[in-house]
Amino acid sequence: MKVDQSILIRIKQLKKEKDVVILSHYYMPKELQWEESTGGFVDFVGDSLGLSVHASQTQARNILFCGVQFMAETALLVNPTKKVFMPDPTAGCSLASSISGEDVRNLREQYPGVPIMGYINTYAETKAELDICCTSRNAIKIAASLPGSRIIFVPDMYMGQNLQVQVEKELGKHLILWNGSCEVHEQFRAFLPQIKNQEDVEMLFHWEVPGEVTNVMQKGKKGIVGSTGDILKYVSESSSNKFYLASECDLGVALQKENADKEFITPCLKCLHMKLNSLEGLLNALEAIGSDQEEKYGVYLDAELIEKASIPVKRMLAIS
Ligand code: SF4
Repeated sequence: MKVDQSILIRIKQLKKEKDVVILSHYYMPKELQWEESTGGFVDFVGDSLGLSVHASQTQARNILFCGVQFMAETALLVNPTKKVFMPDPTAGCSLASSISGEDVRNLREQYPGVPIMGYINTYAETKAELDICCTSRNAIKIAASLPGSRIIFVPDMYMGQNLQVQVEKELGKHLILWNGSCEVHEQFRAFLPQIKNQEDVEMLFHWEVPGEVTNVMQKGKKGIVGSTGDILKYVSESSSNKFYLASECDLGVALQKENADKEFITPCLKCLHMKLNSLEGLLNALEAIGSDQEEKYGVYLDAELIEKASIPVKRMLAIS
């Protein structure tokens, strides 16, 4: 790993001195996925569900979250006695921005009595209006736990379309969808001809990839449509040596780390929000914690919002 030794030493020193746990999403640049167990400084690298669980259990006084804003907010919701920081607290998400709390209240009025399940990729203000949250890893399980034959699923319409196929088949339920989308995964539509042309390659589609692309699975392609966790598991268990990754490019870091002998083809689409996180930003945030500069890196929610928005997240964690 190409990280200047003096920076590495400083990060480790600050982490210890200021009692900080560092959590990193799979979409982080390679250097921010460098775990302590292999000589680096990150305590845990994971998907949204794994990171939420880790955040809820940490004993450290401070959490430094390498990800986007809604993820850091979720860490605060599940562990409000901690202080949560980010290398760049302006890191947003097109999906989370596609829906507001008011939109959810309107849906509730439009469909009285229909439970509302919200993807974890929402801001706290939206979460406060949901019945329950889900991640891409536990969505089917959460849907199965809800009463009735209809569920409102927000905000990702593509994930909703993909989920619908399974929810209908396995649970006999219908999903009512919102029209949000991930600006990274929706771009795979432009790569459909390339995807169709792949020979002897297994497909790795994230749920957030549009249905018109994942449909190739119904036309003879082998592979998986699922969560980040499902993709990692699928690759480790597959006897194939070549895969097409249709998800954020840096998921390839973990895939390659765990499957050094396998090959991954990808157009390498990157989430620019995630890429606002950098080693320099992480170091600056660590330096600032406990100083008069810490507010610049902090994630703050008022107590009333924390109480309301944590309910659907805790319901999800109790089922996961
Ligand atoms: S990859 Fe998509 S869903 Fe994830 S943070 Fe970026 S815009 Fe949001």
